[in-house]
Amino acid sequence: NTPAYFAEKMKELQALGADVFEIRQAKDLERHFDGLVLPGGESTVQGKLLRELGLFVPLQEKIRAGLPVMATCAGLILLAEHIADDPTVHFGTLPVTVKRNAYDVEEIGKQLPFTFIRAPYIEKAEDTVKVLSSVDGNIVAVRYENQLGISFHPEVTEDNRVHAYFLQMCGQKLS
Ligand code: GLN
Repeated sequence: NTPAYFAEKMKELQALGADVFEIRQAKDLERHFDGLVLPGGESTVQGKLLRELGLFVPLQEKIRAGLPVMATCAGLILLAEHIADDPTVHFGTLPVTVKRNAYDVEEIGKQLPFTFIRAPYIEKAEDTVKVLSSVDGNIVAVRYENQLGISFHPEVTEDNRVHAYFLQMCGQKLS
């Protein structure tokens, strides 16, 4: 995983007044939290670690039970019910099909500027999923009940509106 993603996300959320802590092991789940951020990184590695560390089942249960979750990039892949051309399913709570590494460019490089970082896009979303944003006809942000899935990395930009939106989701659950 890339710690910078965590650090940037934590800073953005803290700037908006949220208390933030990292979940790195099963005992961190004993602390109370109103929302969960699944950051970018490599979904294959994240999925493996979540399982090995005993975080997978408890977090999946919490998401199913309505815990607000904001998932960027690899996190979006973790939530997706289907991954295109790949039988792997992680949490499988978000009824979309994602296409991994959708913005890699042959011969030019694997990282385009902008805030897509080897990003997935959503190839297909069920009717119950609200599409929040598309780029070039591909879905890059969705909301489904308590779940916010985005392909890009708002934490690497100055604009913190995505994080503010997520904190509102966390508050909604409380009220
Ligand atoms: N390429 C990564 C994956 O497929 C996602 C990239 C990211 O999180 N920036 O898991």
